[in-house]
Amino acid sequence: MKKTPQSHLKTVTPAKIEWNEQTPVSSHYDDIYFSRDDGVAETEYVFLKQNSLPDAWQNKESFTVLETGFGTGLNFFCTLDMWFKTADENACLTYISVEKYPLSKSELQRQKQIWPQFSDFIEQLIQNYPPMLSGLHSCSLFSGRVRLLLLFGDATEQLSTLIAQADVCFLDGFAPSKNQSMWTIDLFMQLARLVKPGGTVSTFTAVGDVRRGLQQAGFEMKKADAFGKKRHMLVGILRQPPSQKLLKPWFQYPVYNADKKQALVIGAGVAGLTTAIALLEAGWKVTILEQSSSVASAASGNRAGVVMPRLDKQQSTDARFYWQAFFSALRKIEQYEATGLETGWQQTGVLQLVDDASSYLSDWPESLFTEVKQAAAKTLTGVEVSSDALWLKQAGFIRPAIFCENLFNKYRHQIEFVFDTQVTALQKAATDWQVQTSEGVFTAQTVIICNAEAASQFEQTRSMSLQAVRGQVSYLKSDLAHRLKTVVCDKGYAIPVDQQLLIGATFSRDELGRELRDEDHEYNLKQFNKSLGDSEPLSNKGDIAIDIPVAGRASIRAMTPDRLPLVGAVPDISFYQQQYSDLAKGKKASGYQAAAYHSGLYINAGHGSRGLTTSFLCAEIIAALISDQAIPVEAEILARLHPARFEIKRLQKGEKSSK
Ligand code: SAM
Repeated sequence: MKKTPQSHLKTVTPAKIEWNEQTPVSSHYDDIYFSRDDGVAETEYVFLKQNSLPDAWQNKESFTVLETGFGTGLNFFCTLDMWFKTADENACLTYISVEKYPLSKSELQRQKQIWPQFSDFIEQLIQNYPPMLSGLHSCSLFSGRVRLLLLFGDATEQLSTLIAQADVCFLDGFAPSKNQSMWTIDLFMQLARLVKPGGTVSTFTAVGDVRRGLQQAGFEMKKADAFGKKRHMLVGILRQPPSQKLLKPWFQYPVYNADKKQALVIGAGVAGLTTAIALLEAGWKVTILEQSSSVASAASGNRAGVVMPRLDKQQSTDARFYWQAFFSALRKIEQYEATGLETGWQQTGVLQLVDDASSYLSDWPESLFTEVKQAAAKTLTGVEVSSDALWLKQAGFIRPAIFCENLFNKYRHQIEFVFDTQVTALQKAATDWQVQTSEGVFTAQTVIICNAEAASQFEQTRSMSLQAVRGQVSYLKSDLAHRLKTVVCDKGYAIPVDQQLLIGATFSRDELGRELRDEDHEYNLKQFNKSLGDSEPLSNKGDIAIDIPVAGRASIRAMTPDRLPLVGAVPDISFYQQQYSDLAKGKKASGYQAAAYHSGLYINAGHGSRGLTTSFLCAEIIAALISDQAIPVEAEILARLHPARFEIKRLQKGEKSSK
């Protein structure tokens, strides 16, 4: 198998479609998307029936379909239709599809006229449709009953970054004669890697090269009668999966099979709440243990907080993670808003002041952000700023305190909340974790640690590099509050909310005090002053500000050395220290055993000051790992978030472990 190319976030080209009455024809490939006779009947025969659906998903709690060529989504809609009619009510469907030329929303809209019976499905898809950017987009539909993982870009390239095990594979795509570059052995090898042993594949074509290629990849193939006027098609079953693993042994996760889908989540901040909800949607029964008497009592309880990605000049795995997390957060927030749950979301746009703004533009798609010259910024924001900037029109702020309270009210009957209960220790007894708390012992096979800086207090997590960082925000009464129309970020940020300005935040490492400090208000004012242009009232540029903080809030955030959160299973550090002790000697990765973990123990913490953006996607990652489902981020990102990454770095450098 070829080495996987480094992913790069790019704008994808939308499909060019010509309509031949009711039949869409691709101008890129000069081929039709589905049968002129009866597209639905063709899909039902070629892909559903030939993969033994609906029988194959009977009595299954979850089921995964992998498709090449999402196209108009017709296969997806037919699958949904059958799923809702025949699958168990509590079962979850994961539908993974890859598409090089995605349809625009307006082309999707047009499908409603052709398939009025699928109008609701099409509407859900349009409402959650990802941006036209390459890579993996994870959309949770129908209250989590269906997870759609759409990969935009070339099939082989995109699938080579995916971690999944599908039950069936719909090998669609335009005819091999019109689309030779897709039907390659490299693609078939990826499909074989991504289908479960014993999983099935079907395709409309019976071309000999396709049959032989799939056989070479490990599928046992045979011909079947085709749909309509064609003679044959191919069906197969995976007999010999390739052994290729995308991740180094120390970042690999074993399959986790819990006897009971019942989990304890520690912490009721944004990370804990989103994790609990993601698990609930994946069919788990969840209890949240929280030391205080309400949700969002710590860093998640601010009046307002910015939702935006980290901005880097160059693309990297980390930078892509932040963009993917940002778009996941946007989709989730908009979903909540659409169902009437108030998040406080204001898509004001964010003006990020930077040095050398133009140097950010060359490596990123232009739809993400644009450059704004200092002189032009006032038109956007309403206030004069002190430098050139980048403009993120899709970013904005939410009101986390209100949002978390509303999540609590929405889910309090489905998720058990146990307040005033501090977790003090975790002990494994047989298969279950004994969770020692101030109020007695709780027992669960699966525990997810989401309590920010306190997440490293347990014996099992002690080696994790988490640092407490105190942050104070100031609420400012100011004339500017009435003029500022957007969020402005520099080193700190300013948000116009409730006729006031929320400015912040301070950054004091290893400090745990939650009292308000005058010097911190002053610091916030000074920082904010620096972002303002000379003519603004706050910008007297001296130490004394005209505008006075009327209140504020201090809380503790948890931060890691590389600022990325810790997301995954909790590693067995003594195993790491024994098995990987000679990593510095440069031995080949294949010579090492796969990693070992504290089975059933997971962590989602260390989101620093970006938790409102990163929590949603990380919650989905945890739910996928725990439920053995397709991972909603590329393999490289999963490795970058791995809770043992700092230990591995130490071992690779030949350093002794600090703990
Ligand atoms: N399954 C689709 C449906 O239900 O409408 C029909 C798929 S259509 C026959 C084939 C699709 O494969 C097109 O949307 C095309 O853009 C996509 N495609 C072709 N080559 C591809 C490639 N190399 N990577 C990803 N998608 C590709």
